[in-house]
Amino acid sequence: MRSRLISFLLLLTCSQLFAQLKSPDEFLGYQLGSKFTPHYKIVNYFHQTALAMPQMMKLEKYGETNEGRELLLAIVSTPENMARLDDIRKNNLRLTGILKDKAADITAPVIVWLSYNVHGNEASSSEVSMKTLYELLNPSNAQTKNWLKNTVIIIDPCLNPDGRDRYVNWFNQVVGKNADANPNSREHSEPWPGGRLNHYNFDLNRDWAWQTQVETQGRVKKYNEWMPQIHCDFHEQGINNPYFFAPAAEPFHEVITKWQRDFQGVIGRNHARYFDSNGWLYFTKETFDLFYPAYGDTYPIYNGAIGMTYEQAGHSQGGLAVVTNDGDTLTLKDRIAHHFTTSMSTIEVASQNAAKLISEFKKYFDDAGANGVGEYKTYVVTENNAGKREALLKFFEVNGIKYGNVTGKALKGYNYFTGKEEIFNATNTLAVSAYQPKSALIKVLFEPKSKLSDSVTYDITAWSLPFVYGVQTFAVKEKIPVDNFSFKRYANLFSESAYGYLVNYESFADTKFLTALLNAKIKVRYAERDFTYKGNSYQKGTLIILKKGNEGKFSRFLELASEWEADASVLDGGFMDTGFDFGSEKVHMIKKPTVALLTGKGVNPNAAGEVWHLFEQQLNYPISLINADEVDGSALKNVDVLIVPDGSYKFLKEKDAGAEVKMWVQQGGKIIVMDNAASQLAKAEWGIKLKKGEEDDKKDDKKDDKNIYADVKRYENRERDGIVNNIPGAIYKVELDNSHPLAFGYNNSYYSLKLGSDLYEFMKEGWNVGIIKKENQAAGFVGSATREKIKDGTVIGVQQLGGGSIIFFADDPIFRSFWENGKMLLGNAVFLVGQ
Ligand SMILES: [Zn+2]
Repeated sequence: MRSRLISFLLLLTCSQLFAQLKSPDEFLGYQLGSKFTPHYKIVNYFHQTALAMPQMMKLEKYGETNEGRELLLAIVSTPENMARLDDIRKNNLRLTGILKDKAADITAPVIVWLSYNVHGNEASSSEVSMKTLYELLNPSNAQTKNWLKNTVIIIDPCLNPDGRDRYVNWFNQVVGKNADANPNSREHSEPWPGGRLNHYNFDLNRDWAWQTQVETQGRVKKYNEWMPQIHCDFHEQGINNPYFFAPAAEPFHEVITKWQRDFQGVIGRNHARYFDSNGWLYFTKETFDLFYPAYGDTYPIYNGAIGMTYEQAGHSQGGLAVVTNDGDTLTLKDRIAHHFTTSMSTIEVASQNAAKLISEFKKYFDDAGANGVGEYKTYVVTENNAGKREALLKFFEVNGIKYGNVTGKALKGYNYFTGKEEIFNATNTLAVSAYQPKSALIKVLFEPKSKLSDSVTYDITAWSLPFVYGVQTFAVKEKIPVDNFSFKRYANLFSESAYGYLVNYESFADTKFLTALLNAKIKVRYAERDFTYKGNSYQKGTLIILKKGNEGKFSRFLELASEWEADASVLDGGFMDTGFDFGSEKVHMIKKPTVALLTGKGVNPNAAGEVWHLFEQQLNYPISLINADEVDGSALKNVDVLIVPDGSYKFLKEKDAGAEVKMWVQQGGKIIVMDNAASQLAKAEWGIKLKKGEEDDKKDDKKDDKNIYADVKRYENRERDGIVNNIPGAIYKVELDNSHPLAFGYNNSYYSLKLGSDLYEFMKEGWNVGIIKKENQAAGFVGSATREKIKDGTVIGVQQLGGGSIIFFADDPIFRSFWENGKMLLGNAVFLVGQ
């Protein structure tokens, strides 16, 4: 009894301790900004604060990172608002038209979402998240209590905990007793790959629309449940830059409304007031543009919000203190003060303009529902390939884009693949209507040619979904009624007594199925030509699973086929109507390859991370990561395929260092080089040759009287003049030789995201599997000088080297892992080529 009493008293004391609201300084035991706080302590602070202030704060876990760290959202408002929080959230969805159960209340509070620390080594902002939370709850801060009456604040303390801890743990290991402000000291120079990226080296601020990463998937799901009026994404930039806040720079996408532009200005002017009174430097309207749809500012903007990027100096190099170029010392405390100021100022402006923000927000969505954004009103996906269509449907679902069926005869639409208006028919065909809440986002993602208000941009300029997913689509100017969509699954007929099975191989979903079969040790073959069996025709590359060699494994095959919804059919025998019988040497067995990837110093971390993620998380296939500066004959002893992503490689630059790798290829190894790795391999004379920019020289010779002054340029135009050589990322049609296993499953063309001007000479000995001919640019911005160069060359090729092969991609086929239609190419390179 006595012990029970003691535990009761203990519990009481503990919960009283818990119940106390503490400032970050009190809780952490050090002054905010005097050291970097590891993620778990930030998590603890949020949990304890939620316990202390349950009437004003709700804490939700929305996911876990790859390394097992918690992803959290804190929702803060007055006790009155918190008591009806779910009503507020639902009402907000009624404003957008996503929820239609009853009319929306337009006197609702405004919702402000603050996203901290998306880039892990921009580490001041998660420190700020604690201070922001505290000041919103602090009973003695009357101002914030007043703001909360008509605002709900959503705080994400850290969007990228794995990246943040990578930075913070490293920094805490290398910093001395006192911080060293000397920018050349080691604490200002992060090791590879740096803390910016997540576990798989993805830039989470390029992933909002695509949602390839677990952090983004969890966050955007929550985002779509709330649809805030204001979203702020806190960043850091180089140590010598003044603070950047809204309004953003050109180019603005044309769907951004006048209201959205103007209100950025209102917010910026409020920030400026505080920065002016403190004498702090800042800039607006430069550098950070609003165009690419997967940023933390544009994605909210295309979802009706005022989306903004705030940039403080200090990323990666900042440490606790650093001497900048102008001789000042920038401290973590300064960085916290600036980001805290814009956090508070944003909430202040939102509260002061709550009614207007709500009414404009509603108007935005009323317009979308009534008029549809853009000239095209219905996007009709006539693609037959089920795997590709399904990947697209998943994309619609995670973005809250409604889709359905259309039927119509002799419809007129823009064919993305031919670039022309054409007549087509639709029968229960997948379609997306522009008349819906996500109309602006749909327009941005589907527009055939993105219209730039200015061409100096920070990022790629083309991402049209039909090219990304490789799906035949028509953009139609008229409104076509869209019915509920019903997706027809494959109905497979299986038989245990079968001679074997055939599985269509035509999309990345089928590559995933292939790796599942290989992992299950099921023997898979493919025919190198098309064939017909019992009157049905099958394409080259069709997967052939025979009883021979797979005795006792058919039931496992059947399980996998049904799990993957593979398009399989039964074989009763091996005699084909046309094409090779399965005993032919033109029918190849797929040997399960051992795959390695080069990584580490010198390698582009994003490019390596994409391959790592593709194998581990998408193909579920083992891959060994080898440090690039340790690659030699012994490292490759048991490796069948070596993937070399974009980067700078010693073994390609120094002859001696490369000799053993070259020998490994000559003895039967397969090396896949991409992007800069391909051009370095070409320069190292392994057998492929970069095409020279002949056009440049010719142009100089032909200079006529009119442009003899072309070299005389105005200094103030230097940024604009530079872009003639620019290719920030545009879409090109690549003609494919789909009789080569590298292009199995594709038609005779493929749309590639071209990120650089590299082209290779046509090979006489090798296979020019993907080539770019004249005027093959399909979408996006390419500078005039570069456009001249990109034609008549190879961009995807295979070259024999002794007993092995080199496969090269001039560009990254799986860019940011959103370029869905390139993934099967890389899969083919690994699993089909050279078998
Ligand atoms: Zn950043």
